[in-house]
Amino acid sequence: FTNLGDLPVLPQPESFALTAAYNEDSFPNKVNLGQGVYRDNNCQPWVLLSIREVKSNPIPLTTPSNSPISFLTPSQAEQTLHNQQVNHEYLPIPGHAKFLAKARELLFSPQIGSQDNITSIQAVAGTGANHLAAIFCARNLRPKNVFISDPTWDNHHLIWEIAAPNVTRKLYPYYDPSTRGLNFDGMLSELENSAEENDVVILHACAHNPTGIDLMQDQWKKIADVVARKKLFVVFDCAYQGFASGDADADAWAIRYFYTTLFAKSSSPTGPAGMFVCQSLSKNFGLYGERIGALHLVTPPSLPTQGAKAHLVQLVRAEISCPSLFGARLVHTVLDSAELFSKWQDDVKTMAHRIKGVRALLKSELEKLGAQGDWSHIEQQIGMFSFTGLSSAQVRQLRERHHIYMLSNGRMSLSGLNEGNVAYVAQAIKDVL
Ligand code: PMP
Repeated sequence: FTNLGDLPVLPQPESFALTAAYNEDSFPNKVNLGQGVYRDNNCQPWVLLSIREVKSNPIPLTTPSNSPISFLTPSQAEQTLHNQQVNHEYLPIPGHAKFLAKARELLFSPQIGSQDNITSIQAVAGTGANHLAAIFCARNLRPKNVFISDPTWDNHHLIWEIAAPNVTRKLYPYYDPSTRGLNFDGMLSELENSAEENDVVILHACAHNPTGIDLMQDQWKKIADVVARKKLFVVFDCAYQGFASGDADADAWAIRYFYTTLFAKSSSPTGPAGMFVCQSLSKNFGLYGERIGALHLVTPPSLPTQGAKAHLVQLVRAEISCPSLFGARLVHTVLDSAELFSKWQDDVKTMAHRIKGVRALLKSELEKLGAQGDWSHIEQQIGMFSFTGLSSAQVRQLRERHHIYMLSNGRMSLSGLNEGNVAYVAQAIKDVL
């Protein structure tokens, strides 16, 4: 038995620690480029217009079993989903069925989303989906290794360490510091040479965190080919659909390609045992604190899926009994209405285009100031982050001298930049180079 007093104090996750330090800082021009959360051009959290509309317009109120019970009037604006008329019953263990069907279509397309070899279950955001996937794999697939990109979202390591302690975590090369680009040959040969049948490989579907570097379509095809030949089990982590390019279909290309080549009716029956897709709706719906997501299990065509689903349901039962309602109601309402869906498509364009805009601004400010080096990678990378190439010492100086907060590996969350502070940040970077 461990004496609880002897337990060592663990470091806080860096992005949360940075936000806490930033909040404490009283310097007027401080800049938070740490946590991956979207901010508008005034550095403020942004509630998507489509979500605002759901919260302020009459929508059908539904019970968890989805039978409409009443409609609100416009005068009850803003209270809609919090209104007492909305009941707060338990959802079924797998989650809000209509939300799941719509979320699946968003990810896979309506045509693939209706196929019966995809089983979906609601999760506590993307993190919860990753966690369920790890436990499920460790218990049922029993892989020897899980291959994780180097670098990656740091929580991949923690999740697999805690949820799947018997699975060895291995890194596959991803980032090449000498080119500030993708080390595709390293990635491919590591999977080719070191992975064994049923090993898990975690792939970032789009807007790779932290590098902002994605595979091109012909590179995805080569990875799918290794996965098929070696019968690897892919866990796609999809946390930024729509956020990367501004187009949700384009950002889901890799997932749909893997489905079509490995799991469609026409695919080889001797392929991989299955594939998970962890879907976060935190960033692309701006619902960070609502913790809404889904986990989709794709199985080879014509295999029964009831057993796998029952095991997922059991894991949810043990962890949270059943998932929460609010986020599922919001997302379902948007995805179920042609008008709101079109507004949401504009919302993701707004976010993606603002981020692309500040990429160009930062690069041009750095060039204008004559900051030493080539800054083209800032504009070439995609998604919420830039892997700047700044060293941890330079990052520390940015914080100590200029009150600019970013991860020590040089990852900058671009959403903290705007027209008002980009010149200040560029000048500070020049100063620490
Ligand atoms: N995966 C990746 C790659 C991420 O960047 C994030 C968010 N930082 C997540 C999963 C999880 O997001 P959430 O749990 O907030 O939905």
